[in-house]
Amino acid sequence: MNGSLAIGKIFGIPVKLHITFLLAIPLFAWLIGRDVELTARVIEGFFNLASGIFGFLPTISIDTSLLGAEFIPYLVGVGVALGLFFGVFIHELAHSLLALRHGIRIHSITLLILGGVSSIEDDLPEPRHELPMALAGPLTSLALGILFGLMVYLVNATAISPPLAGASIFVLGYLGILNVMLFAFNLIPAFPMDGGRVLRAWLATRMPLARATKIAADIGKAFAVLMGLFGVLLVFNPILIIIAFFIYIGADQESMMVRYNVLLKDLRVSDVMAREVITVSPTTPVPELIRMMYATKHLAFPVVDQGVLTGMVTLDDVHRTPEIDRDARQVRDIMTRTLVTLPPDALLTAAFRLMTQQGIGRIPIVEGSILAGIVTRTDILRVMELREI
Ligand SMILES: [Zn+2]
Repeated sequence: MNGSLAIGKIFGIPVKLHITFLLAIPLFAWLIGRDVELTARVIEGFFNLASGIFGFLPTISIDTSLLGAEFIPYLVGVGVALGLFFGVFIHELAHSLLALRHGIRIHSITLLILGGVSSIEDDLPEPRHELPMALAGPLTSLALGILFGLMVYLVNATAISPPLAGASIFVLGYLGILNVMLFAFNLIPAFPMDGGRVLRAWLATRMPLARATKIAADIGKAFAVLMGLFGVLLVFNPILIIIAFFIYIGADQESMMVRYNVLLKDLRVSDVMAREVITVSPTTPVPELIRMMYATKHLAFPVVDQGVLTGMVTLDDVHRTPEIDRDARQVRDIMTRTLVTLPPDALLTAAFRLMTQQGIGRIPIVEGSILAGIVTRTDILRVMELREI
């Protein structure tokens, strides 16, 4: 995913932080620091509701004398944000570990502001594997929520000073509630929440996977629209609108991903690549290159030197060259030398994924270092259209 920072590896899976997640820390610090008193009463309310249901639990009251002091609210806010980060990470890890157990490779785990994404390497999981994989995350969140909740009662029972206990109960209680909310939110039966996956796994036992996905994604989109309308019209709430927006995009991406996985299944790059490729030589002058672009309407050419692919030159490379220098330059002065290439027997889904991940429109296909053909995003989209009839 673009805009992510790699922060490490666990069980061989790269873990990344999305830029939106970094925004969560100051946002939380601010949201919490703004009104500690009110938040403390809300947390007490939740726990005393639990104490009301389970009679053996004591009531909780939060001493806010330390919590309210100067910069402490913001410090506590950062603590809660980091705790949430930990909770989302454990949630994603649970999905990934179950996937690994079924022999599904995990490309990476990315942590976003509203949760995480585990991107799966190969094809889609089989429905019978998807169900436990999808449930693993929310159940882990529920377990974490209960664990934080128990810690609240534990701190409450110890004899540490009330102001310090108040601050600890505030953080632990907040995290307990957030993790239970993460559990509940993810069980909503709509993509891209885990509940959408559960729904798809169930639907897929009685219909083709692509249709099951479309239904789950459409429910996700409808849900996002309703949530967005609610956020705009009834209670003006920007956070709700942002969440609705993310759900809509997520549902759309999921159905798109499944669509191409199903439609492009079993196709190899060599099945669709263009074999007659117009190439340029490293010594082609840039004005000649521009003339070729006009003549062929192609905006990129592989650069070939005696049959060997040495680079790629695109309209962007021309744009980067100041107009005044273009007459004196050759293709080799402006071309891109580090190339993404694939062999002819690579899967078409792999080519499409590479294009999406790297934001490129075409991939040269090479055998050894000899150019064998080229595959473009347009070619792949056309094949998808053809396969839908
Ligand atoms: Zn999940």
